[in-house]
Amino acid sequence: MLTILQLPVLNDNYIYLIHDPVSGEAAAVDPALAQPVLDVLEEKGWQLTCILNTHHHSDHIGGNLELKQKTGCTIIAAHADQHRIPGFDHGLGDGDLITLGKHAIRIISTPGHTSGHIVYHFTEEQALFCGDTLFVMGCGRLFEGTAEQMWCSLQKLKVLPVATRIYCAHEYTQANGRFALTVEPGNLQLQQRMTVIDQLRAKHLPTVPSTIAQELATNPFFREDSWALQETIKMMSRKPVEVFAQIRRLKDNS
Ligand code: ZN
Ligand code: FE
Repeated sequence: MLTILQLPVLNDNYIYLIHDPVSGEAAAVDPALAQPVLDVLEEKGWQLTCILNTHHHSDHIGGNLELKQKTGCTIIAAHADQHRIPGFDHGLGDGDLITLGKHAIRIISTPGHTSGHIVYHFTEEQALFCGDTLFVMGCGRLFEGTAEQMWCSLQKLKVLPVATRIYCAHEYTQANGRFALTVEPGNLQLQQRMTVIDQLRAKHLPTVPSTIAQELATNPFFREDSWALQETIKMMSRKPVEVFAQIRRLKDNS
């Protein structure tokens, strides 16, 4: 069993620290800052062995160099992003396999938010570290990719085992859920989920992780095939990718 710690930093980012007690290895996913990670490492007596970056944005790589300098960790990121990941050591692409101790991690390339974005799927552990590709009830903005690319990327995540836990890099859930209700107001599970989310956020508690099952039921960017949603946004009988693109546009302008 891996231990997964979730560190809220900056306005709404999460850094994840993953520790394997058997091998003693520890990974930090998207360390926006070094100090909160160093504090936990010291408190727990863990040694950081690697950083797993999902993409090059500053709120995901800000702690890279300081952590590398202070811990000697290896920095792992998409091969395609080697020129823009500080301290880059080792490049990965779609389908590559790495390990943390004996735990397999499969790399899935998910262009859309950025061209080089990758996600880390801990296959036996059923945990997905998905950066800014998939959010709870949302998906990343299209900074370097097309709607078609992002839609294809999300199709790869949609088919993961439904129990897979979704560890995304931002706490955007409440705003995402409010938007989701505007495009699918009759979705009962969505309504119920928002009640729970509002209660959690009133107490400043995290809404992450989610699961693939929960996202299939409530995330509009996983639900372009919903007739009710298509009717609400007046995109009946259109191609799934066109419906998706329209949901993304509506969210951008909301
Ligand atoms: Zn980003
Ligand atoms: Fe981000």
